[in-house]
Amino acid sequence: MKRIVVVGAGLAGLRTVEALRKLGFDGAVTLLGAEEIGPYDRPPLSKQVLTGKGDPAETAYRSAAHYADLRVELRLGQPATALDLTSRTVKTDGGELSFDGLIVATGAAARLLAVESGPSRIHRLRTLDDARELRDALQVSRHVVVIGAGFIGSEIASSARMLGLEVTLLEAAPVPLARVVGPQIGQICAALHRENGTRLICGAQVGSVEGSGRVRLTDGRIIEGDLVVAGIGAAPETGWLASSGLTVADGLVCDPFLSAGHPAVYAAGDVVRWRNPLFGTSMRTEQWTNAVEQARRAAANLLADPGKGQPYAGVNYFWSDQYGVRIQSAGIAEADEVRVVHGSPAEFRFLAYYRKGDRLVGAFAMDQPVPLVRSKLLIEARTSWEEALSLVRAGEILT
Ligand code: FAD
Repeated sequence: MKRIVVVGAGLAGLRTVEALRKLGFDGAVTLLGAEEIGPYDRPPLSKQVLTGKGDPAETAYRSAAHYADLRVELRLGQPATALDLTSRTVKTDGGELSFDGLIVATGAAARLLAVESGPSRIHRLRTLDDARELRDALQVSRHVVVIGAGFIGSEIASSARMLGLEVTLLEAAPVPLARVVGPQIGQICAALHRENGTRLICGAQVGSVEGSGRVRLTDGRIIEGDLVVAGIGAAPETGWLASSGLTVADGLVCDPFLSAGHPAVYAAGDVVRWRNPLFGTSMRTEQWTNAVEQARRAAANLLADPGKGQPYAGVNYFWSDQYGVRIQSAGIAEADEVRVVHGSPAEFRFLAYYRKGDRLVGAFAMDQPVPLVRSKLLIEARTSWEEALSLVRAGEILT
């Protein structure tokens, strides 16, 4: 293999390039990115950047010198427009790039609201530019309406409250984060918002957005804000793969080895839908740690001799900071039972476990960072429910 092209200059793309070099790949490497700037860290965008505690410029992951050391050709502001697997070329508006090996790391883009049309200005948050615009808008607003109480919408609500704004948070489901943490824990997340002065309205369907801040719900209620932000999830960036022959179904479909179904093509990060052997389910995640770990695995499998690759069986892991509380979640929430095993939900300081059959499959914590990380290891080790509970009782997870 002489030339590897990595498409997507985000976290997964960067970490793939670094892994390729660490693994000894000495050929040519190109990192192709749609944005004009090099890879940067997205988690601070909804936290420190919005509250003004973090400088947007400090989100850049690496220096120019680092890219020179890596001997990577960085092509920025050049989105891939198509992939031709017969000729092994990636097309851009500026020409074609040929490859022997390809890693797809194009991530995801913020979803648009179905009602989005006309002159209303609805902010969203995925890129550094989005964050700068939203930060500036928050500074001259009094009442922000956030549509969507997923992790990013919840963090925007929290940051806006920290800035002293009135916040209305609209969620279509009965509780925030229902899909990711389940209804029981979602109730506690709802309480955290309310306790901190956010007006949370669940079961809210947005009918239209008028002007720059008025939201009309389908049941006729009107929320009079002066700024609207939609945090309704992200869609995988797979448009450029449409004619490639690769399978796309809410993500680029990969096998457990992160192979996209062609021997020269692997993928990593938010764009990937893969069958996770740890849980036996097909999943796509939007999580920082997953992007890092998949990048390493995809790079190693691309370079491995045929049949020598390893599957990727990572535990989903996500952290979030809301109202000064560190929230962490690991594993899956489709469970037969959810149990608070330590601490107090009323104080927003607790650890909860998810059971499926006789196995521990998930954990959720508020302000319990060490126990959560230890629990993640238990999930990874496929620990039984009873054993996990007895380890908690013995204090081995908590201290
Ligand atoms: P991305 O970071 O999206 O990078 C993909 C890159 O590919 C982008 O730069 C994009 O422009 C580029 N691209 C897209 N299409 C093309 C194309 N056709 N050609 C070339 N390039 C292309 N995770 C956590 O675990 N904890 C958090 O607290 C947390 N906070 C977050 C806060 C925000 C505001 C956001 C947006 C995300 C947050 N995440 C968090 C998620 C985490 O940042 C992502 O999981 C991670 O960035 C995924 O990395 P990626 O490289 O797969 O995708």
